[in-house]
Amino acid sequence: MELFHQMTSMGHEQVLFCSNPDVGLQAIIAVHSTVLGPGLGGVRMWPYASMDEALTDVLRLSRGMTYKAAAAGLNLGGGKAVIVGDAKKAKSEALFRAFGQAVGSLGGMYITAEDVGTDMEDMELIFSETRWVTGISPAHGGGGDPSPVTAYGVFQGIKAAAHRQFGDAALAGRCVAIQGLGNVGYHLAGYLKEEGVKIIGADLHADSAGRAAADHGVEIVSAADILTVECDILAPCALGASLNDKTIPELRCTVVAGGANNQLADEERHGRELHERGILYAPDFVINAGGLINVYTELMSTYNRERALRLTRGIYLNLMRVFEISRTESIPTAQAAERVAEERIRKMAGLRPQHWDRLIRQRRTRS
Ligand code: NAD
Repeated sequence: MELFHQMTSMGHEQVLFCSNPDVGLQAIIAVHSTVLGPGLGGVRMWPYASMDEALTDVLRLSRGMTYKAAAAGLNLGGGKAVIVGDAKKAKSEALFRAFGQAVGSLGGMYITAEDVGTDMEDMELIFSETRWVTGISPAHGGGGDPSPVTAYGVFQGIKAAAHRQFGDAALAGRCVAIQGLGNVGYHLAGYLKEEGVKIIGADLHADSAGRAAADHGVEIVSAADILTVECDILAPCALGASLNDKTIPELRCTVVAGGANNQLADEERHGRELHERGILYAPDFVINAGGLINVYTELMSTYNRERALRLTRGIYLNLMRVFEISRTESIPTAQAAERVAEERIRKMAGLRPQHWDRLIRQRRTRS
């Protein structure tokens, strides 16, 4: 009964537990909402300490995907999956094919993709069992690594935030500090460099920092210092919870706009604190939707990078709308973004999008 209670309180439609001891598969697929379309979200492979921990994670993450897709204006719902296991030791062809069969059994209600612990090769194995998978290689009509598109969306979001905060979207002469120079941070630095931005960056790995310095002229500081450097815009592109009780009072920026997921340690409290300090926060699930838009493009037709980038440019306007609601209603931007997503879902409830039926028919004929 506890699970039904959790599902009801968070609004989930369906949760599928998958067990196949022959191949060592223990997985949970959570479909949060299919109001706007099929629930799309990656599959995370992680050595969860308990089934409760795995369940909590998949319920939270799948709900987050509903908000991300809704705020991005996509015809997608929210879903997510977790496979319990160590991604460095427990991967096998049989495991991912068994998982693919479980995904296929939902008939398109859930569409999977890469996430922490899974990669394009795993998606290819899933693809051999079901067409309800994205993030596959360009050789199979997929879009490959989504991080350049995510970075492009963050770049658009930074421009929108500059427009709101400084009255001008042009970034030349501004200073941006990037925390984390991995896939997203590195590509973001490339876009910013073209615009004439002074870029300061940090990464825990010297080779990632060195690559960004060499290719994009990023001035490197230590990871311990990046959140406190003086800059116009801070772009968190590393792990979650970088904005917390300790770091927020030490920030020396007027905008926070970056690609990392779950940047606020406490969504409500820290969103409010940034708002009260006059720091404009671009809600993470709105600004980092480029990766999702990229796989959405893959679903709609044969993947086309230009189309993905064109749709991703919409993040600029999506954020301007969020900033406007935040300003007129004097509420934190994170709260305004949730409101935008919830409103769209509420208005569409009961109206099952026609395109989804079309998509399901197309995919069935391909399988
Ligand atoms: P990544 O692993 O390639 O890069 C993250 C980098 O951050 C790594 O190089 C790591 O060394 C560095 N790092 C970790 N902790 C740090 C710290 N305290 N200080 C400085 N550097 C630190 O990951 P990514 O694909 O670039 O993703 C970055 C973030 O963006 C993640 O939060 C991810 O969930 C989110 N995101 C990524 C995508 C995508 O398309 N890749 C899409 C949406 C959201």
